[in-house]
Amino acid sequence: MQSILIVVPAYNEEKNIPLLYGELKKVFAPLRDSYAFEILFINDGSCDNTLGEIEKLAEIDEHVKYLDFSRNFGKEVASTAGLNNCQADACLMIDSDLQHPVELIPQFLEKWQAGAEVVVGIRKKNKSDSILKRVGSTFFYFVINRISDVRIVPNATDFRLLDKKVVEEFNRFSETNRMTRALIDWLGFRRDYLYFEANDRVNGTASYSFWKLFGLAMNSFVSLSLMPLKLAGYLGAVITLIAGVSGFYILLGKYFLHLPLASTFSDSENLAILILFLVGIMLTSIGLISFYVANIHTEVIRRPMYVTRKRKL
Ligand code: UDP
Ligand code: MG
Repeated sequence: MQSILIVVPAYNEEKNIPLLYGELKKVFAPLRDSYAFEILFINDGSCDNTLGEIEKLAEIDEHVKYLDFSRNFGKEVASTAGLNNCQADACLMIDSDLQHPVELIPQFLEKWQAGAEVVVGIRKKNKSDSILKRVGSTFFYFVINRISDVRIVPNATDFRLLDKKVVEEFNRFSETNRMTRALIDWLGFRRDYLYFEANDRVNGTASYSFWKLFGLAMNSFVSLSLMPLKLAGYLGAVITLIAGVSGFYILLGKYFLHLPLASTFSDSENLAILILFLVGIMLTSIGLISFYVANIHTEVIRRPMYVTRKRKL
């Protein structure tokens, strides 16, 4: 018998919790002989009665566990907390808003049994997504796949199953600004994919607004790639080179060799080139500092990622 932990982050999902629980139970029933299922809800500082609903379930079902955060820490941290508290043979992460089709769980398990260590749910299309969200996500995947070493599959979701080995490695990450699925992709391991069509949200509204996702994207750029930091340095090097060569040419040509082209530059034009040269040097220096900042950035992140008020594990 293998144990499976279902990790469910929940933020203001009071209506969806009982629905999801019911759906999960239906899926578990025929698999009961081969798997021991447990559900771990993470209440991410909800303002509604999400915790009450979870506690109700936890009272009647010993396989329901939960963590209650002291405030909203965000979905990425909530799912991390779920993985931190996983001792099962495999962990399956799923959204609580029923957008991830629960019926697919047996297929996730099959792929895992067939040898995949990470099974990733890929969303075919989202009926309810705005144009802004779609354009933004296309652009995000385009950029991130060009500037980082990690290959990130477009439309890969957090609906995924992780083998125990992967969870153990995942739990060694310590950064606070994180994108859970990107970190899982960074880990590698043998992976397989499952394609699904996302359901519409049943209750409540998506709490990931365009700007929240934008912030998440910026965090990924910064945490998965040093390219934005190095940009100033590269720009500075190019400017310094161009301004330096042309400045040198004018200086030599105008005052010493009396070349016709060099002599046409006025004093203010020469001054402009001098300023450009200095700006180039400054940018290069900023670029150098950036390398140090980048190193510090990878070292200092040691704050606890989340705080729990209450737990049943
Ligand atoms: N969620 C969370 N903390 C947050 C925001 C969302 O735990 O701060 C949960 C939410 O309850 C849901 C999942 O993360 O189970 C996905 O959230 P949402 O539906 O808002 O995002 P989207 O479907 O747009 O990715
Ligand atoms: Mg959703």
